[in-house]
Amino acid sequence: MTAASLNVKPAYLEISNVWKAFGDFHALKDISLDIREGEFVCFLGPSGCGKTTLLRAIAGLDLQTRGTIRQGGKDVSTLPPSQRDYGIVFQSYALFPNLTISKNIAFGLENTKRPRAEIEARVTELLKLVGLPEQGNKYPAQLSGGQQQRIALARAIAISPGLLLLDEPLSALDAKVRTHLRHEIKELQRKLGVTTIMVTHDQEEALSMADRIVVMNHGVIEQIGSPTEIYRHPATLFVADFIGEANKFKATAEKGSVSFGSKTFKCAAHSFDAGVSVIVAIRPEDVIPHGPGARSPGAPDVVKEPANLLDVTIGEMEFLGSFWRTRLRGADLGDETLIADFSINAARRLTLTEGTALTVELPEERLLVYPGGQ
Ligand code: ATP
Repeated sequence: MTAASLNVKPAYLEISNVWKAFGDFHALKDISLDIREGEFVCFLGPSGCGKTTLLRAIAGLDLQTRGTIRQGGKDVSTLPPSQRDYGIVFQSYALFPNLTISKNIAFGLENTKRPRAEIEARVTELLKLVGLPEQGNKYPAQLSGGQQQRIALARAIAISPGLLLLDEPLSALDAKVRTHLRHEIKELQRKLGVTTIMVTHDQEEALSMADRIVVMNHGVIEQIGSPTEIYRHPATLFVADFIGEANKFKATAEKGSVSFGSKTFKCAAHSFDAGVSVIVAIRPEDVIPHGPGARSPGAPDVVKEPANLLDVTIGEMEFLGSFWRTRLRGADLGDETLIADFSINAARRLTLTEGTALTVELPEERLLVYPGGQ
């Protein structure tokens, strides 16, 4: 089947078997990845995982040691940045302090030898596009951080590049501005349809902005997927742990189930042989509270006869605005604590407070099973 018959756009950027060594250290280890035209992809991972190195290889700012990079069907692997087709925004705005905002935006356009009137019209259009139509005659120092980053964005897209590269563009900004700009950048990217790669270590940023997230760790790709795939079906324990919260328990695989603490829990298909040590993870919001004595099918939360029930007592409760984070303990958990997030409504309905004894369900389809455990 071809890409066209699947109604999927062909790859615009093809990264094949890319390695990057700094001396003996391999910052990238055999990275392969296709990015489709118009996609918004985030490289997400902890500090030092190689995301900036990969972005710089794509930009030609630092060549890969091995492997190829093709953009729009053309091999750009060894081309200098000036011969590649992209715009880039860095964390530190990197505007020219001695040039006006208009001149900053016009910078790349000047080299294209377009008529002055056309350049001016384009700058006016870009200033409007990033919501700063009146600021053209100011200097960078006269703008706020968020405004400067909008200008850096305008400058990056001025020549309508095929690829937009964003290197932690929001991390120098305060939380409110960051959330606002997140939304604006995403909207702008959709409007322009420009293929975009953003490097970030902020999971919320990646989850809220990306069409697909590339999760990296120690120079390799751990998982590539949509935000919901990555969150709901983390391929590795690292991904489950790095994105969102996860309870983790050492467990033993059984046929169609896992046992940990002193209980056995049914669990959606896992591929481990019986007796193998595994790690079982569950997200705090996936723990369902059934309240004391609520084991009967008629109980408020019970849709089907629940399995995987656990009797627990609430240790501590922490109010986090839109939900309660609770620490649950119980005889079947041994020394372990189960963290569970309960909605405000559930907590009110079940009159949950510290010390309350209740029954919780660990839904079988929400139990994630990974290798390890010894
Ligand atoms: P951060 O979020 O902290 O920027 P990152 O995921 O972008 O992290 P990179 O900057 O890509 O990480 O670095 C990956 C690894 O390569 C790190 O261990 C870093 O120390 C190393 N590294 C990067 N640049 C160089 C260099 N010029 N010389 C030697 N080592 C380098």
